[in-house]
Amino acid sequence: MRRKLVVGNWKMNGNRQTVLELLGAIGARTARPECDVAICPPFVYLDLCERVLSATAVALGAQDLSEHANGARTGEVSATMLADLGCRYVLLGHSERRTSHGECDETVARKTLRALAVGLNPIVCVGETWDERMSGRTYDVLSRQIRVVADALTESEHFMSFTVAYEPVWAIGSGVTATATVAQQAHAFIRQCLARYSATASQRVRILYGGSMKPDNAPELLAMPDIDGGLIGGASLDAQQFLSILDAAA
Ligand code: 13P
Repeated sequence: MRRKLVVGNWKMNGNRQTVLELLGAIGARTARPECDVAICPPFVYLDLCERVLSATAVALGAQDLSEHANGARTGEVSATMLADLGCRYVLLGHSERRTSHGECDETVARKTLRALAVGLNPIVCVGETWDERMSGRTYDVLSRQIRVVADALTESEHFMSFTVAYEPVWAIGSGVTATATVAQQAHAFIRQCLARYSATASQRVRILYGGSMKPDNAPELLAMPDIDGGLIGGASLDAQQFLSILDAAA
């Protein structure tokens, strides 16, 4: 049985004051959560968040990392730095990074290896655009995105040690959610792709759903057999909404 994981991706939002307010509200209600919980604030607030969250059951995650180890890489943040700051998770290959920063599957695979090498849990984001779905290419896109990362890990000691987030690009920030049935089909397909590497390991990998998950649609989505949690954008910036989604995951 896979324990559910709910992750808040704050993206590029907030300031010191709103960060503290949100953490106060979330931390107070998550003393003994019945699912794993993490939040991924902007890099500059990681240290502040760590100081507040170290006394709670809420884990810390980052929204990205550099594919390079260290050195002359102005503006980048390394996996080692994130581990040093107390991060447990890192989002990789989010569609906003694939689209706006030109990240390809190979970059995401290299970042995944960097994360695993320092003990971070990578959450690899995959998902099709609306055009890809409409032209019947959803499963081609998903299998390619999964294959490039899984292939990169086959020779490593960290074989299949990652979490997947299925985030259909058309559902992100749009208010349009994949129906529970559509999402379940994609999740089951992703698990089949993973099973080509190892049937046993594919049953262990958590596959989160992301894309306009809100308190009203979370119970139905999270009840699906292959949906193991949520990656929450907008609703994670509102403590009440985020806590309601945690309740649905319990
Ligand atoms: P929304 O929940 O705002 O649609 O964002 C989803 C997302 O991109 C999480 O990474």
